[in-house]
Amino acid sequence: MSEKLSSKAAIELEDKYGAHNYHPLAVVLSKGEGPKVWDVEGKEYFDFLSAYSAVNQGHCHPKIVEALVNQARTLTLTSRAFYSDALGIYEKYITEYFGYDKVLPMNSGAEGDETALKLCRRWAYDKKGVEPGKAKIIVCADNFHGRTITVISMSTDPDSKAGFGPYTPGFVVIPYNDLDALKKELEDPNVAGFLVEPIQGEAGVVVPDEGYLTKAYDLCKSKNVLFIADEVQTGIARTGKLLACDHENVRPDILILGKAISGGVYPVSAVLADDEIMLTIKPGQHGSTFGGNPIAAKVATAALEVVKDENLAEKAEKLGKIFRSEMEKIDSDMIELVRGKGLLNAVVIRPKNGKTAMDVCIKMAENGVLAKPTHDHIIRFAPPLVISEDQLMEAVSIIKKSILSFE
Ligand code: PLP
Repeated sequence: MSEKLSSKAAIELEDKYGAHNYHPLAVVLSKGEGPKVWDVEGKEYFDFLSAYSAVNQGHCHPKIVEALVNQARTLTLTSRAFYSDALGIYEKYITEYFGYDKVLPMNSGAEGDETALKLCRRWAYDKKGVEPGKAKIIVCADNFHGRTITVISMSTDPDSKAGFGPYTPGFVVIPYNDLDALKKELEDPNVAGFLVEPIQGEAGVVVPDEGYLTKAYDLCKSKNVLFIADEVQTGIARTGKLLACDHENVRPDILILGKAISGGVYPVSAVLADDEIMLTIKPGQHGSTFGGNPIAAKVATAALEVVKDENLAEKAEKLGKIFRSEMEKIDSDMIELVRGKGLLNAVVIRPKNGKTAMDVCIKMAENGVLAKPTHDHIIRFAPPLVISEDQLMEAVSIIKKSILSFE
């Protein structure tokens, strides 16, 4: 099928033949390059969602695409029944890059989280001495770790969770950014791990108090509990450091990465840990047909190289400060709050004359900036980190104009 679709026809097809598990903005994209995307009618937009922070390196980054194409022409998939000449090189590269003994490669972020949960439980039984079947993992309210049954069992969001029970047991939910609650739950000797997002992305870019991660880590250590960071959204330079945990010099016991680890080119996720934890899982106890395949290995290596070569963390730090200060300057009572770190930011919208965050997003799309509300009243702004300062300022003026149009 090579016919050229209109936006209307493309939307009708998805509506008729696809499950209705998303509610997209009515924009049909057919091309992307760097921080920009184009719709099927040729209209140009700045992408301020970056596929939920998967496209940090920009759309169709030539080096990452080249890695994909070259490997796709040579060898795509072996499964882990055999070795490949790509995987070990990637494993050495990524473990040295993040400073861990070992990596366990998977595909999606949710699988990365599932892997971390299994590793944590296995470590609890084999190393910590928790009685079989009794391990507990502490998680935070308003978390987002993906969509599988076990992952939604940890969720407090009714949209994600309700109507999909029965749920996986073994989780204790505490409020985010609450060290007293963590301290209290850590008194239970069956607690094996604390799973946390260093910034809660899907919850609306909720940034915890400074020192929260360090203190939470120290509390976990004092009770021989694993500190597990889900950096699927915050990782890979998005927040102005390679990892969001780096802002507080915290080194998680288990680190979960996804999304931008492949520059949005291919589904790649990774769980990193040291031998004491990683080697508790033995052959046959966990895996994935596609996890660590040769294309994933080459694409992720290229994507990680781009982050360093193009100083994307430093760029996100600098441009993020400019973005937040420009948003704070907008003279509109629709702007309730601006928050974020690096280029992971959110503006909390106060509805005005019946106009909501969704109306603002529709207006911005008309004017050439794509973003999507999260939780009705929050707009996340997360452009590809390759955006230039001039481009950022151009987008800022579109965002300003759009918000001020409701005055
Ligand atoms: N963890 C976090 C923090 C996320 O933000 C997401 C997705 O938004 C996931 C896990 C799930 O990733 P995936 O959609 O690739 O399964």
